[in-house]
Amino acid sequence: MIAMSLAILLFLALFLYIVDIVTRHLDDKERADVEEVKNIYQNLQEKEAGIHAEKKKIQKQTEEIFALYDITRQITQNFDAAETFEIFKNRLKERTNFVDCRLIEAQSEEIRQLKILPQYFLFPLQSKNQLLGFLTVEGLEESERDKVAILGHQLALALRRIKLYEEVERLALTDSLTEVHTRRYFMERFEEELKRAHNRKTPLSLLMIDVDYFKRFNDQYGHMVGDQILHKIGMIIKENIRGIDIVGRYGGEEFVVVLPDTDRKGAGFVAERIRSATEATQIQAYDTVVSVTISIGLTVFPDDAESLSQLIEKADQSLYQAKSTGRNRID
Ligand code: GH3
Ligand code: MG
Ligand code: MG
Repeated sequence: MIAMSLAILLFLALFLYIVDIVTRHLDDKERADVEEVKNIYQNLQEKEAGIHAEKKKIQKQTEEIFALYDITRQITQNFDAAETFEIFKNRLKERTNFVDCRLIEAQSEEIRQLKILPQYFLFPLQSKNQLLGFLTVEGLEESERDKVAILGHQLALALRRIKLYEEVERLALTDSLTEVHTRRYFMERFEEELKRAHNRKTPLSLLMIDVDYFKRFNDQYGHMVGDQILHKIGMIIKENIRGIDIVGRYGGEEFVVVLPDTDRKGAGFVAERIRSATEATQIQAYDTVVSVTISIGLTVFPDDAESLSQLIEKADQSLYQAKSTGRNRID
């Protein structure tokens, strides 16, 4: 009986011992599992924070790219160099902390001085093989220089585009030999000025100028010398008129000048100034020196005629009159 009780007790103790071991083992496993889940959760949290930071970085970069694109778009829409630079400067001010920003000519003395000053960031505005000038930005932070360099490159392209546009425009409006306006552009401007004179009820004068015996110069010295003479006469006319007056090449060796806000007396003075300056000039053409004279037909709005075509016709008649009464004169 005693032996049996002891055996039962022993069995019970063994059983409890086994239960204890099993539960302990289970606790450890559970703890390990919980620990593992915790780690996974922590890792996920860290990853999420990383993704969030990356997302913010990408967002910032996207905003930056859009801003740069927007600035580029804006500076390439303008056809005026000064206005384009103003836009560029204002937009740059929004994105960086510069103190001063200027455009300086490539050959200027100032550039040599600024190059050695560390507070100045000098960016060469290069377009193809041509150095258009320098963009100088004062007080820029080191980290902002890349941004300015990217935009500076776009500015160089925009300025080059404007230069080309101006050149094409100049070529379309200017006669290449005489460097006065083409007939077409002159007529457009004449029409505008005539309208203005109509509206304001102010006078306007028209001069028709023709070189005397020009054919003889061509025959005697050749066309190249003839061309030089025409170029010089264009210069003499330009030197003797005001900035608001308009001069054009009407035909081969004929020039026309519109003098806004000028009556017969005023136009007479101008015409005489051009005539006498031409007569007094010794024109150097290659190895030849020649003297030429011109005849001028003068007509006045509204006294002589009111329409554009009538004014031209009258000026032509006056010129013919000046020619037939001896040349080197004004009629
Ligand atoms: P007038 O005093 O009556 O005006 O005599 P002119 O010889 O000037 O008149 P004409 O109209 O007979 O001759 C004009 C000449 O101008 C003829 C033409 O060969 C020449 N001419 C026209 N355009 C040019 C040009 O672009 N270059 C040169 N070299 N000659 C030109
Ligand atoms: Mg002629
Ligand atoms: Mg002539």
